[in-house]
Formats: sequence, structure tokens, C-alpha cells
Amino acid sequence: VKPLGPIPAGYDADTAGQLVINGQTAASLANAGTPLFVYDASRITAQVARFRSAFPGVALHYAIKANPYAPLLDHMATLVDGFDVASAGELAQVAGRGLPVSFAGPGKGDADLESALRQRVTINLESEAEAERALAIANRLELTPSLAIRVNPPFLLKGAGMKMGGQSSPFGIDHDRVPALVQRLVAAGADWHGLHIYAGSQTLSADALIELQRETVALAAQVARDARHAPRHVNLGGGFGIPYFAGDSPLDLDAIGASLANTLAERHIILADTSFAIELGRWLVGEAGVYLTRIVDRKVSRGTIFLVTDGGLHHMLAASGNFGQLLRRNYPVAIANRFAAAPIEEQTIVGCLCTPLDLLADQALLPRAEVGDLVAIFCAGAYGLTASPTAFLSQPMATEVLV
Ligand SMILES: *Cc1c(COP(=O)(O)O)cnc(C)c1O
Repeated sequence: VKPLGPIPAGYDADTAGQLVINGQTAASLANAGTPLFVYDASRITAQVARFRSAFPGVALHYAIKANPYAPLLDHMATLVDGFDVASAGELAQVAGRGLPVSFAGPGKGDADLESALRQRVTINLESEAEAERALAIANRLELTPSLAIRVNPPFLLKGAGMKMGGQSSPFGIDHDRVPALVQRLVAAGADWHGLHIYAGSQTLSADALIELQRETVALAAQVARDARHAPRHVNLGGGFGIPYFAGDSPLDLDAIGASLANTLAERHIILADTSFAIELGRWLVGEAGVYLTRIVDRKVSRGTIFLVTDGGLHHMLAASGNFGQLLRRNYPVAIANRFAAAPIEEQTIVGCLCTPLDLLADQALLPRAEVGDLVAIFCAGAYGLTASPTAFLSQPMATEVLV
């Protein structure tokens, strides 16, 4: 038997033993058809409230690449202070929702830059060459561009799932070259919005985040002093993780918030009038999502019981272990219509794709499941459908619903 990841707190069974998601049973939601992603709006609201209480005075941005589902963006627009996008397509998805937008990401084409400038979006510059193109396009359009600089810092988030920073990087501009670019932007008449310093993702270590935020604020002050210009705004990045696997425990948010408050209280005078933001994707929406897929076959092969579902890695690549994990481990998984039943049988859950990669739960101890039962995969709200190869094997698309 291999362990399953921890089911996020607050998912309960009703008296009939059915998994309930924001007041509705998984079975009733699945009547609309499977495979299905269900996103619980109340959990997103609660998560934002936790952030607000831990980080008073710090702006919160939603990085939409974690989950760009339109009704979820509508809900998020009522909760956060800004959207961070990383492509012209994402920019189009947040357009008209009335929040400030910043546009990061390498490889922005001239048409992307032009559309961002026309929409008065802040561009997070990823290179000096991109800065020159943005200035030239703004000049041609006769408008004042709002430009921030993404900094490639000399440190990185320790223990992060995906490391960015502290090394050569396609993201951002090496920190020691940033002051000269600030001066170039100001001299060119641009509106220099500030700095964007993002050093990694998915950590559960409060200590690592505390240290990172301290280094990030210090770096912002150093850059500002070297440039002899104060940034109006500093985006401190994010990196807040959620528990996915056995042994993971949730982030201690209050410890991070208390420490950041100290760091900001002691910041260099050059940052006195600077506003600060944290940008989060996964932590805001990850635990709010449940992927529901139905068992279409139950078979035994050389002693292993396989539950074959109508879903798979084409919707939920991360649960198969093929999205950035070095070692495959099981996500939190349950049989939704037997949520209160005792786990008594070792079963392996697979998707319907004709590849051995399509493994959703390996040798998991679960209630005995039958054809027609519903499998629930938790922590599916971030990097679920949007990070999966939906065209692979030409299986039907999953549907999504916000409840
Ligand atoms: C992906 C990304 C995020 C969101 O990361 P999460 O781990 O989902 O919080 C934030 N900022 C930038 C620049 C990113 O590339």
C-alpha cells in the first residue's frame, strides 16, 4: 500500500456517506456528466479572508495561470486587488473585470506589448530588449507606458517545488543590471511602476518564505538606492504552497504575516512610500477544486485491482506525477459516494488513456469501489485542467463548474 495525500480540511460526508462540496453532493454535481472539475467559491473566499487577516496592508494579486476558469475569475475579481497575467491570452481573459493588471512572462511579441499598452496594463519587463520594444511602441502610439521591471534575484526560495532565481534565468533581468534600466525608463519618460521579484513556488516552509521576503525587501531597497529612484510599487512574489502528499502540513500563514510586518516596519527609508503586493495562484484556489471522474471498469491483473475511470492525465496531469514532480506520489483521492466508508482494499486508479503514465492513485487503500462509483481527486483547483494536455488521445474535454 502507498499512502494518499491529505484531504484538505472541511470536506465532509453527509448522513448518506456522500462527499459534499459547498452544500451539494459530488453525486448530484456529477449528474451533469463526468469528468468534472468542481470549484468551491466559499473556500476561495475563506482563503482570501485568511490572507487579509495575516497580511494587513499588503495587496493581494491573483496569478491567473493557476486557474483561468471565467466564473472563478468573476468571483476572484470581487476579492483581490489585481490580476497577474503571463500571456496575451490571459490578458484577454481578465479584460473588463475592473482590476489593475500586470503582464509578466518572457517572449511577449510586439502585438502583445501593443495590446497591453493600449489597455493601460502594467508590463513587467523581462529583458532590456523588451524594454526598448515597449518604449518604441508606446512612442508610436503616443502614450506613456506603465512599466515595471521583473528582477532576477541573486537568491532563491529554498525548498520550492519549482526554482526560479539565484541563477541564470529566462525570467527577469539580473538584479545588478536593474538600476541602469530604471534610469533608462525614467529618462525615456515612461511611468516606472516599480519592481516585480518572484523567486519560486510551492513551499510549505514558513521559515523559507520569511527569509525570502526579507531578502526581497532588502533587494528592492538596494536597487532603488543604486538607481536613485524609489519604486511606487513592489510585487514581492508569492510561492505559498499547499499540502499535496502524505507528510505535508499547511503553511503557517500568521508566522509569515507577522514577520513581513516587521520587515516592512524596518524597511529602508527609500521605500517609505512604496506599496507592496503578494501574488498567489495555487494557495488561493488549489484546495477549492475537486476533480470527479467515474469508474467505468474494475479489473484484476496479476493480483492488482485496477479501477479504470473516464478521466485521466489529459485533465489532471499533476495527479499522475508528470507535472514537475521528480518522484511520483499519490494526491489526496477518495471514493466520493463512499466517503464515510472504511478503507479496506488496496486499489490502483487509472485514467482512460492508452499509456502507463495515466496513473491517478497507485496502490491506495480505499473503500471497495465498483463500476459507476465516483473518484474524487482533491487539490485540483490549481494547475489542473489548465496545465494538462487536453488534446492527447482525443478524449472528451472535462467540464467545469463553480459552486
Ligand atoms: C506561476 C507564477 C505565479 C503563481 O505561482 P503559484 O505557485 O501558483 O502561487 C506567480 N507569479 C509568477 C511570476 C508566476 O510565474
